[in-house]
Parts: sequence; C-alpha cells; structure tokens
Amino acid sequence: MRKVLIVEDEPDIARLVQQHLKDIGCEADIAGDGASAMDLFTHDGYQLVVLDLMLPDTDGLSLCRSFREQGGYVPILMLTAKSTELDRVLGLEVGADDYLTKPFSIPELMARIKALFRRVEAMQQPAASEPEKSESIECGDLRIDSDRRSVTVAGEDVELTAREFELLHFFASNPGRVFSRVQLLDKVWGYNHDGYEHTVNSHINRLRSKIEQDPSNPKYVLTVWGVGYKFADKVD
Ligand code: CA
Repeated sequence: MRKVLIVEDEPDIARLVQQHLKDIGCEADIAGDGASAMDLFTHDGYQLVVLDLMLPDTDGLSLCRSFREQGGYVPILMLTAKSTELDRVLGLEVGADDYLTKPFSIPELMARIKALFRRVEAMQQPAASEPEKSESIECGDLRIDSDRRSVTVAGEDVELTAREFELLHFFASNPGRVFSRVQLLDKVWGYNHDGYEHTVNSHINRLRSKIEQDPSNPKYVLTVWGVGYKFADKVD
C-alpha cells in the first residue's frame, strides 16, 4: 500500500485529502506542523508528501529542503496560497515536484497525485519499459545523458530538477517537432488541465536560463509564436 504524508495545519483540509487518498488505496498520515512532519518523515517510508506552504512552526519551503536533504527521492506536491512563491517552490532552491494553488479542487489534486505516482514508477523501472534506448543526445554544446540523467553544456554540468530534465529530454528526443503547452503538460507532466499552461512557460524559462548562453535569444528550446515550443533541428 502506498503511504502518503499530508503536512497541513488545517484539519478539515487534511482529513478531506486523507479520505480521498484512502479511496485510491493510499494510507495517509497527517502532520499538523513542521516538527511532527519531520519526525514522521524520518521514521516512516512515504511514497509522496503533500505539503502546505504555510505552517504554524515553519514554512513549507524550508521543510521541503529538509526532506530533500534526507536523501532518497520522494515526490513532493506543494499546496500554496501564494502564486508569487511559484518560482521558488518549483525551482532548484526548493525543488517541489508539483504544486497546487489554494483553493484547489479535490479531483485535480488526485489527478496530480496519480501523475506523480506514475512518474515515480516509470523512473523506477526503466530497464523493463525502455530496453537499451539509453545513450546520450548531443546537440551543439548540449549533451544529455539519459542513463545518468545528467546534462552538460560545453562540458560544464548543469543542475536540473527532475521535471526540467524530463522536459529537456522530451524536447531533445523530438527535435524539430512543435508542441503546444497543453501537449507538453500531457506528455511531460502526465496531466492535462486548462489553466496550467503557465507552468510550462515558467519551466521553459528556467530551463533556458540554465542551458542557453543567451536565454532571451535561445538556440535550443525555441518559441514557435502562437503555437508553442520546439527543440532546434540542429545547432551550429
Ligand atoms: Ca496552512
């Protein structure tokens, strides 16, 4: 049975989420503050954390960082009331895997949770589903190593979040093909909801800031005005 940790100081929300997780076969513990969340997290093995940004004794951002420092990969879905925090929440600084802005709908939360589970399971069994596909993708100065999940630009390591890597890998595996934001949400995020296209934009901006020499004049991840994005066919 999958175990989920819900870190949320509003009991009504926590119990509602817990009940719906139970409906999809997950066992969920609730922590109402950062201290008990940390205690549960270090002693129990969780497959996912649903983490509220605003907690009585700490904030979700520093808690998320502490979880990451424990090592081992556990997906973290952040609940936030502040869209201004998004770049920090999703960026390298904190590295949450996904977020929802409060108030959120339960069906949407469940869709996100299922997508995260699917993603983790796909990551855990690469050999079975993708035999011998591996190797590396090279384009200009950019080198993507699928096995090691590492990226270098002109020989320099680039640190990407899991989602940024998947986005780049997806693009680079389909050079020259144009994808709309909705298609990217579907292919890379595993869900498809209206109104979340800005998630794609912000990830692409961050990806460009990491891999492009001049992010305002990108040569790898190109904007196709009015349609979406594509990966360059070739780069000099
Ligand atoms: Ca709260």
